[in-house]
Amino acid sequence: MIVLSSADVAALLPMETAIEVVAGAMVAVSAGKANLPLRSLVDVGGANRLGIMPGALAEPACYGVKLLSLFPDNPADGYSSHEGAMVLFEARHGMVVAMVNAGPLTAIRTAAASAVATCTLARPEASVLAIVGTGEQADHHIDAMLAVRPVGELRIAGRTDAKADALARKAATRHPQVKISTGTDIRAAVEGADIVCTVTAADEPILSGEWIAAGTHLNVVGSSIPSKREIDEEMVARAAVFVDYRPSTFAQAGEIIRAIESGRIGREHVRAEIGEVLAGKATGRTGADQITLYRSLGIAAQDLACAAYCVEQAKVRGLGVTAPLE
Ligand code: NDP
Repeated sequence: MIVLSSADVAALLPMETAIEVVAGAMVAVSAGKANLPLRSLVDVGGANRLGIMPGALAEPACYGVKLLSLFPDNPADGYSSHEGAMVLFEARHGMVVAMVNAGPLTAIRTAAASAVATCTLARPEASVLAIVGTGEQADHHIDAMLAVRPVGELRIAGRTDAKADALARKAATRHPQVKISTGTDIRAAVEGADIVCTVTAADEPILSGEWIAAGTHLNVVGSSIPSKREIDEEMVARAAVFVDYRPSTFAQAGEIIRAIESGRIGREHVRAEIGEVLAGKATGRTGADQITLYRSLGIAAQDLACAAYCVEQAKVRGLGVTAPLE
């Protein structure tokens, strides 16, 4: 099998490529060409969990499982809060073909999925981007949003000025043409923004629907377990909601589950999966004033497609380390 490190994945999966690969996976999922049992979580002490995400894809024919340590305090020690590995199998004889570092794989494929949603749903001229959160996903979402929309202004809102400023400095080296402001006031950051990405591990809503202007597109990415919510019920109710995969939305998206339980929305409020919109089977944005919202939970099909792509390209470019498993 081939082993791909963090650096290998970063080299093999630039954002523009990841967006194409993930878009293909999302279409395949919505066309029923994937088998995706729901993600399960195992408590491994304190707030730490092991996430297990199995799946099988018909195109490219492969299957596998992503094993991810979800350790929220890791960043303070210089590690990612998402460490782990993806084991990839080929579908003909069931052989293990690769072990891929799942940290960068997750960071890149999640941001790429938000870019696919943004490309599908945001107004074409959207140019003011608000990022709420300052961690690994926040960093990758900046590149992802800039890849699909003409962003000229970036507003970063964090829990501390120091972290928001640090992220802004990093982003400025990659995107010197963009005007960047930072702060801790989420409302000020999102008011009047064209695109909003929430990428935090908040327990309770940090964003209210009352703050969001008509025409905005939101990618709600963080707090992806049922007990947590980044946005309030008003936000859910005001928006046309799109998702990556309905079964995981109804099982694991805290704000959607609660809005349904309280009677504020019905299940039909979730209009479509992004893959259905991409395939022309569902309608996306229906007007310039509509608020669109993509609820991302992340699906193994995105990981499988990206891992399979990395393995194929690693062979072409001579990257990775080959290890015998027999
Ligand atoms: P990081 O640990 O790198 O960053 C977490 C961010 O959330 C930091 O900015 C942190 O602020 C902030 N945060 C933590 N707790 C709170 C809180 N109670 N209120 C407000 N902000 C808070 O994580 P990632 O960037 O990798 O992931 C961000 C979120 O996205 C997580 O919830 C993760 O589970 C989710 N995720 C979703 C995926 C998907 O496919 N939808 C895939 C991968 C991750 P500070 O630094 O100040 O603590």
